[in-house]
Amino acid sequence: MMPVLFIGHGSPMNAIEDNEFTENWKKIASQIPKPKSILVVSAHWVTGKTSVSTLEQPKTIHDFYGFPKELFDMEYRAKGAKETAVRTLELLEASAVEDNNWGLDHGAWSILHVMYPNADIPVFQVSINGKATPHELFETGKKLKELRKENVLIVGSGNVVHNLGMMDFSIINGSKWARDFDDFIQQNIEKRDFESILNYKNMGTMAALSVPTTEHLNPLFYVLGATESTDELQVYNKAYYAGGLSMTCYVFS
Ligand code: ZN
Repeated sequence: MMPVLFIGHGSPMNAIEDNEFTENWKKIASQIPKPKSILVVSAHWVTGKTSVSTLEQPKTIHDFYGFPKELFDMEYRAKGAKETAVRTLELLEASAVEDNNWGLDHGAWSILHVMYPNADIPVFQVSINGKATPHELFETGKKLKELRKENVLIVGSGNVVHNLGMMDFSIINGSKWARDFDDFIQQNIEKRDFESILNYKNMGTMAALSVPTTEHLNPLFYVLGATESTDELQVYNKAYYAGGLSMTCYVFS
C-alpha cells in the first residue's frame, strides 16, 4: 500500500533552494516506492466543490508575486494522470466534477520538482472544496484511500501553521502560538485522535492565529482521511519559518 503524505511547502523559494526542508523532501521521496501516479491536494486550488483535473499535460502555474525570475521561468513538465483522475472521479461519485481550468500550482510543483526532479511520474490535482467542513474533507480523504492500493501517491500540500500577516524574520523558532498549535496537531496525529484535529477551532486563540484562513490546513484533512490505523508515522521538518509558518511534514506508510 502506497504511503500518504502531508508536506508543509512554505515559500515557493524552496523549489530552487537547497535547505534543511528540501533535504528531507528528497529523503521522503527516496524512501517510498515509485508510484504509478501522484494525486496532489494543494492549498492553492480552492473551488466551490471537489474538482478533479484530467488534463493530459497540465501547465505549470506561477501563482505568486515578487519572487525571482528563475522561479517564474520554472516549468514542471510531468504528464497528467488522466487514468487515475478518471478513477478518482469514479470513487468520489457525485461529489466531484471534472475541471480542466487548472494545472499544477506551486503547492504541487515546488515540492514535486524537489522530490521527483525528472518529472517522470504522471501528476494531477484535486481541488479543495472551499465550502466543505473539516469532517467532510476527511470523508473525501477516506474515499481516496482506495487509490493507495492502486499504487497512487496521495500528497496534501499546505502548512499546518500559515499566517503571512504575522511573519517576523527575527523569530527563529516560531511564535509561541505557532509552536503550541503545531504541537497540538502533532500530538493528536500521534494519538490518532483525528476528531480533536477536525475540531481544531475549539483550541481558541492559537488556532485562530495559526489558521487565519483554512486553505493551508485543509489538505491535512484529506490526508488523515486516507490513513489506515496500522500506518506507521514519520514526522519531518518540525521547524518554523519567520514566526508565522510551520513546515511540519507527516508520512503515513
Ligand atoms: Zn502555500
